[in-house]
Amino acid sequence: MDTKMLIGSRFEKGTETEEPILNPKTGAAILNLPEASQAQIEAAVLAAENAFVTWSRTTPAQRSAYLLKIADRIEAAAQDFAALEALNCGKPINAVLNDEIPAIVDCYRFFAGAVRSMPGQVAGEYIPGHTSMVRRDAIGVVASIAPWNYPLMMMAWKLAPAIAGGNTVVFKPSEQTPLTALKLAKILAEILPEGVVNVVLGRGDSVGNTLINHPKVNMISITGDVATGKKVLQAAAKSVKRTHLELGGKAPVIVFDDADLGAVVNGLRAFGYYNAGQDCTAACRIYAGKKIYDKLVADLSSAVSTIKYNRPDDTENEIGPLISRRQRDRVSSFVERASELKHIEITTGGRPGEGSGFFYQPTVVAGALQEDEIVRREVFGPVVSVTRFSEVDEAVNWANDSDYGLASSVWTKDVSRAMATAARLQYGCTWINTHFMLTNEMPHGGLKQSGYGKDMSLYALEDYTAVRHVMVAHG
Ligand code: NAD
Repeated sequence: MDTKMLIGSRFEKGTETEEPILNPKTGAAILNLPEASQAQIEAAVLAAENAFVTWSRTTPAQRSAYLLKIADRIEAAAQDFAALEALNCGKPINAVLNDEIPAIVDCYRFFAGAVRSMPGQVAGEYIPGHTSMVRRDAIGVVASIAPWNYPLMMMAWKLAPAIAGGNTVVFKPSEQTPLTALKLAKILAEILPEGVVNVVLGRGDSVGNTLINHPKVNMISITGDVATGKKVLQAAAKSVKRTHLELGGKAPVIVFDDADLGAVVNGLRAFGYYNAGQDCTAACRIYAGKKIYDKLVADLSSAVSTIKYNRPDDTENEIGPLISRRQRDRVSSFVERASELKHIEITTGGRPGEGSGFFYQPTVVAGALQEDEIVRREVFGPVVSVTRFSEVDEAVNWANDSDYGLASSVWTKDVSRAMATAARLQYGCTWINTHFMLTNEMPHGGLKQSGYGKDMSLYALEDYTAVRHVMVAHG
């Protein structure tokens, strides 16, 4: 197992506080990893700063070739990466191997192509005798900070557009899930010039905090909690750094009475519980029309009760445990508080799973009201609430009545109603008759307190590059 950080071209162990890396399926420690010292963070930023001089002058075609090599190497080692991610996150191996790794490989390939054909305004004589053109250039050293729910995928979403755009990166994985980042660091060091990507380990309030406050860091990209995003903004304000924020979510799902109930139930069973609900787009906040509500709750509860987890043969598992005991207890306390309300019924699940791992039963919370905590706050676990609505306006207003604005969905057979409702939703993404599906060609990112950075797509490449105007006076 790779345990060393990548600083420039050197592999080094951290020298500071050790963090236990746990197997969430058992609660047992896999190993302890020390975090980076201030001197090691400094060296990583310096390596990125030095590398920027030549990396930012490479052509898109050259950077594209590097990205394609990274994609090929991840693909060739798919089984090993999947096994490591499954171990560190408790994910079912098939979910990583069949869903995540192909999307990760495709992310590097997408940006390899995208950087060679960025669109933009045409050059022209907007003032007589002067030709103007727009350039998109690299920003500088990017501090990229990732969460624990999809470690290798978040790394891809951050690294690929950043280095495609000509930036250099100091990457910090979550202190809970650093293993695949360390493995990828080995490959990156073989492929990329020294210092283009550096990987440092450590906790948010120590290593993360140093990175976001570092004067030589030009941009901060973070996926994490809203509270963390706010700290990033405060740090960025000191030296006016560019920020790219992907924060939490609480996705509303509006199910109209005419929706295909079977499709809704299958969709919610999959998209509400994937990755044990540890997904900022999880279909977790259902608003069901008054006629479909009872049948939806009944069918969904029985479908959810069949979700397979914590089986000894991992190939049977559909979801894994939560990432930590703390996260499991947090989810548990949300459900306990909800179940104390008279109008709420826990129709399936509602308890921690058996054994020493951090499992939680897939849970449906029926009868929830708009003002309930379970409807308003991000649970980040395998818990879906269902709320009955009467009128379209009520459903749309409730859906929009949230601090979050990342993802949403609308389920109906009436295309006009679907389009009219989608237009009114204040979310970075609205799916119609599906949920959760992402593709590297399309942007992913939020509104409101879900942040404003876009991952994937040409919009990410725009976020990681600066628009510049060059004007030539020629008479
Ligand atoms: P977190 O905010 O605690 O941690 C995220 C990362 O930020 C970690 O690497 C952590 O070490 C670092 N960090 C924490 N405090 C910091 C500080 N003061 N300075 C610098 N870095 C700091 O979040 P988490 O618990 O790891 O992840 C779950 C959260 O991420 C959820 O709220 C979820 O909704 C959100 N998320 C959002 C998206 C999205 O695309 N919008 C995707 C995945 C997860």
